[in-house]
Amino acid sequence: MFESLSDRLGDVFKRFRGQGRLDESNIQEGLREVRLALLEADVNFKVVKEFIDRIRERCLGVEVMKSLTPGQQVVKIVHDEMVELLGGQSTDLVFAKGAPTVFMMVGLQGSGKTTTTGKLANLLRKQGKKPFMVPADVYRPAAIEQLHTLARQLNVPSFNSSADQNPVDIARAALAQAVEQGFDVVLLDTAGRLHIDEPLMQELANIKAAVSPQEILFVADAMTGQEAVNISQSFNERLDISGVVLTKMDGDARGGAALSIKRVLGKPVKLVGMGEKLSDLEVFHPDRAAGRILGMGDVLSLIEKAQEAMDEQDAMAMGEKMMRAEFDFEDFRKQMRQLKKIGSLDGLMKLIPGMGDLRKKLGEMAPPDKELVKVEAMINSMTVQERRQPKLLQDPSRQRRVARGSGRTEQEVAALLTNFFGMQQMMQQMMGGGKKGKKGGMPQ
Ligand code: GDP
Repeated sequence: MFESLSDRLGDVFKRFRGQGRLDESNIQEGLREVRLALLEADVNFKVVKEFIDRIRERCLGVEVMKSLTPGQQVVKIVHDEMVELLGGQSTDLVFAKGAPTVFMMVGLQGSGKTTTTGKLANLLRKQGKKPFMVPADVYRPAAIEQLHTLARQLNVPSFNSSADQNPVDIARAALAQAVEQGFDVVLLDTAGRLHIDEPLMQELANIKAAVSPQEILFVADAMTGQEAVNISQSFNERLDISGVVLTKMDGDARGGAALSIKRVLGKPVKLVGMGEKLSDLEVFHPDRAAGRILGMGDVLSLIEKAQEAMDEQDAMAMGEKMMRAEFDFEDFRKQMRQLKKIGSLDGLMKLIPGMGDLRKKLGEMAPPDKELVKVEAMINSMTVQERRQPKLLQDPSRQRRVARGSGRTEQEVAALLTNFFGMQQMMQQMMGGGKKGKKGGMPQ
């Protein structure tokens, strides 16, 4: 998802790198490129204009923070604004208290509505809820069967609708059955058409009036870009939807719908479909999505988090070292000690892109906190020179000495080194070449 937009913006930010100072002309030029990248990604043009205006204003108005280079500052501003554009915080689904919750799924045919209903049932069940799937598309008999099939696959109960029933009656009867049988969430899969038509809108409005859903989720195919945004407006005008589910994000390299819909509709994207499998539905996190678009994982939040706990200069020195993949065992130990102020290593590692493997390995070896003590003992047993030049430790006799000194096994020392070099390599890859490019591939 977002690959093409991310590549384009990556190129733009590379050019900001090394700019000593931000002035009107280089900001102007950079923002023109950002604007083009967004328009190419099929973002709504009004949204793009507003977005660029806000960034220009903030770039010009801002006191450049000591700790960040001007280029980094621009990336940070773009990042913050992009999080806002994508909806700010992730938005929880709303549930009723004491009575069954009703979620009404609406959208055009082929948008992924029925599949999403199944995925949502799966997600809710994992959260310990008892979903009830209700097919209310009586015009396409195959739709009823499609939902029953999904329900059977998931082993979730479904309402026995028949094609000669009125959808409003189906919705009412299903809700009554949910009350009777103790289901928590009624998932109403409504009819879709190829185009918006008035009788359908009226029917959806009648269902809404009959069962007062907590959520009316508009399901849209992200790959249709602005088309999805336009259609969502029509649905919103009639139904006052509560949120959007963007499907097929796995195939959407541009991100135009995701980046426009919140601003245009004022309604958040709550969930995203990431594939055809029933487990491929995720809660939408604007901050993670922005990080992904800007190709930096959550490095910015890592810097921010570190800034809170460490003195600013220290944090930046560390952040920059990480970006340049010049991070050595001295830094590692220093950071481990500072982590006690920040929280668990696990929490921090979650923010570093590509850390999943390392976390898993550490997790397999021992609980993270105990592991920290062991790791620190091993680092303490290294000489200063070894800590500064970790490559020296590739020598097995040095590894043996460190193992003896720290009371750990040689395998543990070897594992620490493997993880450390793996981490360095990941950082290098993530930063697009690390040391080679002098300042690394990270926008500076
Ligand atoms: P409906 O007519 O709106 O109910 O659409 P369906 O649920 O039948 O989905 C239409 C097609 O889109 C099916 O082939 C689904 O497998 C596919 N689909 C739905 N959601 C996703 C998704 O998130 N990613 C991908 N790749 N395909 C999806």
